[in-house]
Amino acid sequence: MGPSHGGQRAPVLAKRSYPMATSTVTPLAQRMLSLGTETAFEVFAKAKALEAQGKDIVHLHIGAPDFTTPPNIVAAGEKALRDGWHKYTPANGLLELREAVVEDIALRRNAEVHPDQVLIVPGGKPTMFYAILMFGEPGAEIMYPNPGFPIYESLIRWSGAKAVPIELSEESGFSFDADKVLAKITPATRLLILNTPANPTGGIVERSEMDKLVRGLEQHPHVTILCDEIYSRQLYDGAEHVSILQYPSVADRSILLDGWSKTYAMTGWRLGYGVWPKNLVKHAERLQINSVSCANAATQVAAIEALRGPQDSVDQMLRAFDERRHVMHRELNAIPGVSCVMPKGAFYAFPNITGTGRKSQALENGLLNEAGVACLSGTAFGAMGEGYLRFSYANSVENIQEGLRRVREYLA
Ligand code: PLP
Repeated sequence: MGPSHGGQRAPVLAKRSYPMATSTVTPLAQRMLSLGTETAFEVFAKAKALEAQGKDIVHLHIGAPDFTTPPNIVAAGEKALRDGWHKYTPANGLLELREAVVEDIALRRNAEVHPDQVLIVPGGKPTMFYAILMFGEPGAEIMYPNPGFPIYESLIRWSGAKAVPIELSEESGFSFDADKVLAKITPATRLLILNTPANPTGGIVERSEMDKLVRGLEQHPHVTILCDEIYSRQLYDGAEHVSILQYPSVADRSILLDGWSKTYAMTGWRLGYGVWPKNLVKHAERLQINSVSCANAATQVAAIEALRGPQDSVDQMLRAFDERRHVMHRELNAIPGVSCVMPKGAFYAFPNITGTGRKSQALENGLLNEAGVACLSGTAFGAMGEGYLRFSYANSVENIQEGLRRVREYLA
């Protein structure tokens, strides 16, 4: 495991200003007006701009492990480049990597899938992009967690489908109520998106609730399920990971999303995978061929090492996240007007800030501009996020303590 650091070393570039081409008459497709974004990237840019002005910012908004990629994986990537992995790979990814994914799924999820069901993609996001494009169109309905990863809602709206929220409440530990979810299914529902462990809340889906949901879904064979399990290895207190692949009765319409970004601190390498039902994988592969052709070749070779090589770095990172989780939970609850449930997975805390009398977005802005703390408004994750902020504990204990000291001072 590499050292913990807040940012990443960037090459030193000469500061220049470039003229920007502008036009008042660029006709864009109408659908571009409905495309949302991931605010984390915008806050990151604002925080960087403030730092460039000399301001000191504590970064508690980043959804990326602050560790460097384990050295055995870096070495495998370097070797792959030296060995000549410079060309396209098959669109669905290297067979050896898809086989390694199948082994990993058998080992960690106790589920059996075929390498032909695996589509290797550049990051976790393409799997959700392909699935939402595949099912979304005007007249269709897609259900998604709210608060949840913002790209779900953004892409659903962009596809023209109706975005139907699955409300995740603090009272239910930021999990869903299966009966309420099932009650929202209509003949137009095509896709149901789940995310466990969850961003932004750190909540997880318990087996009993997933069992109940799947039993209900057996009565709705027209609904495909996309389960985003990108944080499946970031679970605490011995919590069990419940995977959609463990349910044979819906296996022919379940899509799994996972990847290397969070587990192996590889967000910048851009690599992920989807496990698709046999009848859908060809459509997903076609979307891949129409967009990016294939994932980066050397990265795929490094990813084989990630899955088959030693896993102690993953355990070490998890222990560090766990320690920070406790610090963050304790310090947040010590701030008057703030209360935070203990996150069970991922590396985020989602404190309730209603006791401060402030609105989430205003507090995000104030904390960044006046207190020097970058975090995210709960509303960046959907309307149900009002009254909350998201703090990431993918930062050192010292930085978390300093950041929350500033929050406390600012609110006082
Ligand atoms: N899914 C969830 C729930 C996430 O939080 C993220 C990233 O933050 C992703 C998917 C995307 O992962 P990647 O960076 O590998 O595209």
